[in-house]
Amino acid sequence: MKVFLELGWFFKQEKKAYISGVLILLFVALLQLVPPKVIGMIADHINDGTITKGMLVEWVVVLIAVGLAMYGLRYYWRIMIFGSAVKLSRILRNRLYQHFTNMSPTFYQKSRVGDLMAHATNDLSAIQQTAGSGVLTLVDSLSTGGFVIIAMAFTISWKLTLICLIPMPFMAMLTSWFGSMLHKSFYKAQEAFSSLNDKTQESMSGIKVIKTFGQEQEDIEDFRKKSEDVVQKNMVVAKIDSLYDPTISIIVGISFFLSIAFGAKYVLNGELTIGELISFTTYLGLLIWPMLAFGWLFNIVERGRASYDRVAALLREKVDITDDDNALDVVPYGDIQYRISEFTYPGDSKPLLKDVLFSLKAGETLGIVGKTGSGKTTLLKLLIREFEGYHGEILFGGEPLQKYKLEKLREAIGYVPQDHFLFSASVAENIAFTDPTATIEEIEHAANLANIHDDILQFTDSYQTVVGERGVSLSGGQKQRISIARALLMNPEVLVLDDSLSAVDAKTEEAILSSLRQNREGKTTIITSHRLSAIQHANLILVLEDGKVSERGTHDELMEIDGWYNEMYVHQQLEELVEQGGY
Ligand code: ADP
Repeated sequence: MKVFLELGWFFKQEKKAYISGVLILLFVALLQLVPPKVIGMIADHINDGTITKGMLVEWVVVLIAVGLAMYGLRYYWRIMIFGSAVKLSRILRNRLYQHFTNMSPTFYQKSRVGDLMAHATNDLSAIQQTAGSGVLTLVDSLSTGGFVIIAMAFTISWKLTLICLIPMPFMAMLTSWFGSMLHKSFYKAQEAFSSLNDKTQESMSGIKVIKTFGQEQEDIEDFRKKSEDVVQKNMVVAKIDSLYDPTISIIVGISFFLSIAFGAKYVLNGELTIGELISFTTYLGLLIWPMLAFGWLFNIVERGRASYDRVAALLREKVDITDDDNALDVVPYGDIQYRISEFTYPGDSKPLLKDVLFSLKAGETLGIVGKTGSGKTTLLKLLIREFEGYHGEILFGGEPLQKYKLEKLREAIGYVPQDHFLFSASVAENIAFTDPTATIEEIEHAANLANIHDDILQFTDSYQTVVGERGVSLSGGQKQRISIARALLMNPEVLVLDDSLSAVDAKTEEAILSSLRQNREGKTTIITSHRLSAIQHANLILVLEDGKVSERGTHDELMEIDGWYNEMYVHQQLEELVEQGGY
């Protein structure tokens, strides 16, 4: 029952609803005592031959009135208690979501998305159940159970009540045993479900790769196994769950048997009237619900606790990249200086970047080139503080990056990643993602700079065309240019193009870059590219090799050296000539 204490903050917050819900619930529990009593009295009058029509009508009116009152009141407590429970899952869902958005990529490397989704669905619904059905069952089973037993003992026969309650301790023991069995099996079922979720997510995201390698059958087989596992584990839960009700029925049956056997004896020796025995057995019937409910309570609370523990653990996961207490609330501006002696990815043993030292004046353009895997993207990710923990520092406007509020730092940098992501929304909304208040003129201006405006006009609904999974399918180059337009709309101090032009042809790339040069005068641009022509105008070019700067300088300077850059440039020029049909 610890989970009720842990949820104390919530019950406090929803005090009014819970208190009124519980009071109404108690009142209904009392009202429930009336019908059996009335039926018993009617039976006695019939037995005595003293029943009159007027009396019967009176009692029937009482029964109907009580029935209607219970009907109405039950509706109210449901609204109060279940309605509040829905609020709890909303609060937790929002907290989780906010937490997820604050976490760094390291967290997503560690956690599986399927797991996170399972937390947000199954676990939250189990917690909601605890705050709703759990509270209801606790109050209702204790109050109905308590009131009924009191009514039986004090208004009918305490002796018969004691006899009929003999089987109860067994019930308590069985219930607790079932509870712990259920908890264990439910936990396993939940884990299997997480794993299935994860598998589905991975397959859906990687469906192209799966198809390319003809792995569909293996993938289906793997899914089938995981799905089977979920069924198996849920079957165990269901089996334990199913054993519970029949077990309770046996115990209830024994109680009924005792009440009839001993009750009949008391009626015969005059200790009880027939009517009282009828009331008594009806009361006993009323006890079945609280007894069963008690079992469910264990079940619900166990599930709720397991889920609450998991969600709480997730919420306790520290956000690893946070603002300093006295972080500067200004958008950084100025020169950028990298003074990194070493950077190793969390969990890796070997450093990925070594001795990366360079300075870039505000307004200059930096080009970074090198083989795939040489560390270009990593170097840029450090600038937007996606990863930290390097030896050394990166200065922006003379201050270490950590001096600025993360939000402000990221406002200064328009980062266009290699793997662009478009939302299922209109082209205009996708471009205006960072600034939903942008006017259509601003959006079109950005699209023009990114050389995508004319393409967009060709779409059926122009800027209102929906893209993404549910919309028009775009070419890789179009997606890249929309991503660039998105970054350009921010007009950031620093524009970072991380191999973001790989899917457009050389001519379009040149057009985009030259419009950027004209429009971003005085602003810093960092470009990584496989095509060296993309960075030949840069003020500084770095060649990365295995995380180290192997060559540096301007295009002309690098062409003087007999190194990777020179060789690659000549190679690419030749390639282009061949593509254009030779000399
Ligand atoms: P490039 O942009 O030059 O292709 P990257 O910076 O993307 O190079 O990657 C350099 C190396 O870092 C690769 O070997 C890659 O596997 C590794 N790497 C990239 N991201 C991570 C990460 N989050 N954790 C661990 N290693 C990573």
